[in-house]
Amino acid sequence: MPVADTLAAVRARIQRACAISGRAPAAVRLVAVSKLHPAALVAEAAASGQTVFGENYVQELVDKAAQLPCPVEWHMIGHLQSNKVKYLPGIVSMIHTVDRLSLAQEIDRQWRTKLAVPCDILVQVNVSGEATKSGTTRTEALALVRAIAPLPNVRIRGLMTMPPFFDDPESARPYFKELRLLADQIRSAEIPGVEMTELSMGMSGDFEVAIEEGATLVRVGTAIFGER
Ligand SMILES: *Cc1c(COP(=O)(O)O)cnc(C)c1O
Repeated sequence: MPVADTLAAVRARIQRACAISGRAPAAVRLVAVSKLHPAALVAEAAASGQTVFGENYVQELVDKAAQLPCPVEWHMIGHLQSNKVKYLPGIVSMIHTVDRLSLAQEIDRQWRTKLAVPCDILVQVNVSGEATKSGTTRTEALALVRAIAPLPNVRIRGLMTMPPFFDDPESARPYFKELRLLADQIRSAEIPGVEMTELSMGMSGDFEVAIEEGATLVRVGTAIFGER
């Protein structure tokens, strides 16, 4: 199926989930996850009106961004090593996967030397506690946000999570709810410069449930671009 059609189908599902949960469709942004798919497919999606794309690997992201005929907005959604951060200023507008202070410090340093604007970041939380998943823990999230907040070239916009994989998307609901409650708790701490307005959660298999639980950024790959 052409990307224009799969995109339209995903957008329709987002609108339906918004309607069901009484949320404004504009409150949910679609991040089209294009990892392991060619730049030509990204260009096709951009031509159909998609503006935000997510990538997992720095080298692939840098190569792909250089190949696109028109500018799009890139989000880094994969695990990020500090020594790769230097390639990202000027290319990405948001990093979803900040899970440690040292990484935030390196983002702050790279954005300070290369750009005049701060980098929008999300703090990744491993809500399920699975050993294989990146992310800070639920109990350490507030302390990490407090530690990052004073960095002048980094702006904390919210939280991101990846629940365990389930066949039934309903099983992911408690993890999405948990992330929302954690964001509420951090927001109520009123840390200067910390917004907590974004919740990055939900993928192809479960984004409707994530929207019902308050997602503002859904990261959808397979449902748009097909299997990788
Ligand atoms: C690959 C990936 C996605 C997209 O997953 P799909 O199931 O293909 O929609 C979303 N978030 C992260 C962090 C990913 O690595």
